[in-house]
Amino acid sequence: MTAVIRRPLIHAAVLALSLAVSGGAAVAPATDGAATAVMAGPLLAYEARLAGDDARGRLVISFDRKPDYKIHYLANPYRVVVDLPETAFGIKPEDMAARGLFRDVRYGAMGSGAARIVLTATRPVLVTLDDVQAEPDGRGYRLVVDTAISTEADFADRIGKQTWSQAATTGHVAAPPSAGDDGKFVVAIDAGHGGIDAGASGATTNTPEKDVTLAFARELAGVLGGQEGVRVMLTRDKDEFLSLSQRVQLARNQGAKLFISLHADTLKQKDIRGATVYTISDKASDHLAASLAERENLSDEIAGVPLDNGPAEVADILIDLTRRETQAFSVNLARSVVSSFEGQINLINNPHRHAGFRVLQAPDVPSVLLELGFLSNPEDEKLLLDPAWRRKVAERIANAIGQYRATVVANGG
Ligand SMILES: [Zn+2]
Repeated sequence: MTAVIRRPLIHAAVLALSLAVSGGAAVAPATDGAATAVMAGPLLAYEARLAGDDARGRLVISFDRKPDYKIHYLANPYRVVVDLPETAFGIKPEDMAARGLFRDVRYGAMGSGAARIVLTATRPVLVTLDDVQAEPDGRGYRLVVDTAISTEADFADRIGKQTWSQAATTGHVAAPPSAGDDGKFVVAIDAGHGGIDAGASGATTNTPEKDVTLAFARELAGVLGGQEGVRVMLTRDKDEFLSLSQRVQLARNQGAKLFISLHADTLKQKDIRGATVYTISDKASDHLAASLAERENLSDEIAGVPLDNGPAEVADILIDLTRRETQAFSVNLARSVVSSFEGQINLINNPHRHAGFRVLQAPDVPSVLLELGFLSNPEDEKLLLDPAWRRKVAERIANAIGQYRATVVANGG
C-alpha cells in the first residue's frame, strides 16, 4: 500500500466551521490553519446525502462536473475510502452525518491536488455498487456508492486483492463478494438471537436460547458442509448480536440459495412441544404463530437498534415478482423439512405455519424459520441440549435440503 494519509482529515464539523469562516466559498480546507484559496480548477461537491441502516448504506454526492474517483478499503477499523481529485466540499455536514452502518464520516483535502472521503463502518463492509450519473436537471453529475455489510473473511479478501495504486478508477466495482461465485449451492444458517439478545431460556436449566441455536447452527454446518456441491455460511459463529436485517443482508451478500433461521423459544403453555417450520406471510396462520413472530421481531428493539429506513429497493415491481417466486420455494423447503422430520423428530400439530417474521424478509432468498422445540417444555429442553438429538435433527434437515435441491433442479431452478 503506497498511499498514506499524511495529515488527519478534518472532521465534518470543522469543515463546516472553515466554510462558514470563509463565507462558504469554494475553499480547499487545510489542517495547518491556512485556508488555501482555490483556482478555477477544483471539483465542487455541492450536495450530499448519506442514507441507510445498520446493514446497508447509500452515499450520493452531486458534483458540478464529472468526478474521477477511486474506491479502496482500509482495515482496523473497517473503512471505505473514496479518493477524488481536488474538491471543494460545499455540502452540509449534517447531510453526511454518520449513521447506520457508519460510525464516522470524514472528508477533506489530501494535499497535492487530491481529496478524500472516509466512511468508517461498525462491521466489515463492501461496496456493492458505484456509479456516476448525469444529474437530471443538468447541474452536473452525481456519484452513488452503495455499501452493505459483509463477512470478516470477504473484507480481508478484498483488502488482500486490492492494488492500491491501480484500484478500479472507472467505477462499476459492482461485483458482489466473490464468495457466491464458486457454483456451489450456498446455504445460510442463522443461529437465532445472540449477544445482548439471549432469546428464551430453558425451563429447568436456564440455558439461553442463543447458545442452543449456535450449537445447532454449528452442527448443521458440519453435516451440510460435508455434502457435495454445498457451501455453508453462518450468519454468526460466536456470541454476538446481529440485527434482523443484518442477518438477511449477510446471506444475500454470500449469494445464499437458502436461508434457515434456527430457534427454540418458550410458550406459556408448557405442555406444547415439538418442532415447527415457519415461512413468511402478511397474515399469521394462527394465534401461536402471530405471537411467536411478534416476539422474534422484538430482537432489534431489545438491542436498541432503530427500525430500518434504509434506501428503498430500486425496482419494487421486480421485487414483488421475485418475492412471489421466492415464497413458493420457501413453502417447498418447509414441506421438505416437515416430511423429513415425520416419524423421526417430534413435530407440533400443524407443523408448517406462517407469520410475519422480519428475519424471513429477503425478497430473493427462500427462507424458513425453524423452531426446533420449546425450551419451556422440560422434555423438549432435555432433547435440545442433547448432542445426539442435535446430530439427528441436523441430519434430517440436511436430508430435507437434499430433497428440496432435487425438486429445484428438476424444475430447472
Ligand atoms: Zn427465538
